[in-house]
Amino acid sequence: MPGRHFLQIPGPTNVPDRVLRAMDMPTMDHRGSEFQALGKRVLSGIKVIFQTEKPVVIYPASGTGAWEAALVNTLSPGDLVLMYESGQFAALWKKLAEKLGLRTEFLSGDWRSAAKPDAISDRLKADTDHEIKAVCVVHNETSTGCVAPIAEIRRAIDEAGHPALFLVDTISSLGSIDYRHDEWGVDVTVGGSQKGLMLPPGLSFNALSDKALDAHEKSGLAKSYWDWAEMLLVNKNGFFPYTPATNLLYGLDTAIEMLLDEGLAKVFDRHARHGEATRRAVRAWGLDVLCEEESQHSGSLTAVLMPDGQDADQFRKVVLDHFNMSLGAGLGKVAGKVFRIGHLGDFNDLMLLGTLGGVEMGLAIAGVPHTPGGVRAAMDFLSGQRRAGGDAK
Ligand code: PLP
Repeated sequence: MPGRHFLQIPGPTNVPDRVLRAMDMPTMDHRGSEFQALGKRVLSGIKVIFQTEKPVVIYPASGTGAWEAALVNTLSPGDLVLMYESGQFAALWKKLAEKLGLRTEFLSGDWRSAAKPDAISDRLKADTDHEIKAVCVVHNETSTGCVAPIAEIRRAIDEAGHPALFLVDTISSLGSIDYRHDEWGVDVTVGGSQKGLMLPPGLSFNALSDKALDAHEKSGLAKSYWDWAEMLLVNKNGFFPYTPATNLLYGLDTAIEMLLDEGLAKVFDRHARHGEATRRAVRAWGLDVLCEEESQHSGSLTAVLMPDGQDADQFRKVVLDHFNMSLGAGLGKVAGKVFRIGHLGDFNDLMLLGTLGGVEMGLAIAGVPHTPGGVRAAMDFLSGQRRAGGDAK
């Protein structure tokens, strides 16, 4: 089909041309001085994105690798980990923890809201022997579009007087939804390259705290590739203990520059605006957004519930076939019941309207019962905001 593919899944996201050009370089000597300068730049710049002054480890791996790294660097075989069933990604992290020989406890969730501070606090208060060694939470649950209140969960852990580590997955919120590693007292934050950072898949991150570094000293789970020790030592000089993904790091350097040029506050506002415009469209169509909590709506994606008897995957196929647009599939418990609109990364008002236009036309072609006018509702919101001067350009 002529024209560009619309990649509106909630990651991997569209890679800006500037980032593509930055990566289009000859492969370099990763032990040379040119690389060293790049290594130092990205290792320092990525801290600003995590809003931390502490070290951030960069792995040549997908997000799953950084999940594993967070656990093996801080915990020991048989340790109990408290996790919250916010959706599919929480479930996958739990499965991974169990494969590593950790014991897990899953606070049950309804997949329509994020992790609840009260439930976590109650469980920690009951754990008087401090058997729970870590609390793991997904910040932006990519399968549902609900955002967990991380600062409140930190307060809940503190109020319970519990020493557990706090591990947070920001794979689909980093660089798109406000996230403050230091201020919110998170011990390990897990991130990935292919969403808000506007890069291809292939890099992932662990942002650390002093407490995480102490836990690392005592952790007994087997680790080699993921071990922070060697990484942090060699990173001091801008290098990596093994061959880094050099060209992705060129891209990361540029992506950080782009995010900081725009300003993180404006980046977060832009995503929140697009989330709001999308929800207005969905409601105008007479459809439901999966996330039920008003305060938890995601700025990076919206999961839309199909009316009863309508297959979300069939609908996505219609949209792909007619408009060359990929929408996100429903995952796990909501497979076939929802489709997800990604509105994160290198994204603007007109891209959103193109996306919503494709969805609205797709609903009509697929015969999904709905009320036309979602695109109009989104346009009114976006233009109204700009008229009122509420938009951050
Ligand atoms: N956590 C979240 C919240 C995600 O959205 C994803 C992927 O979409 C992952 C973890 C797993 O990351 P990856 O697929 O890069 O291994």
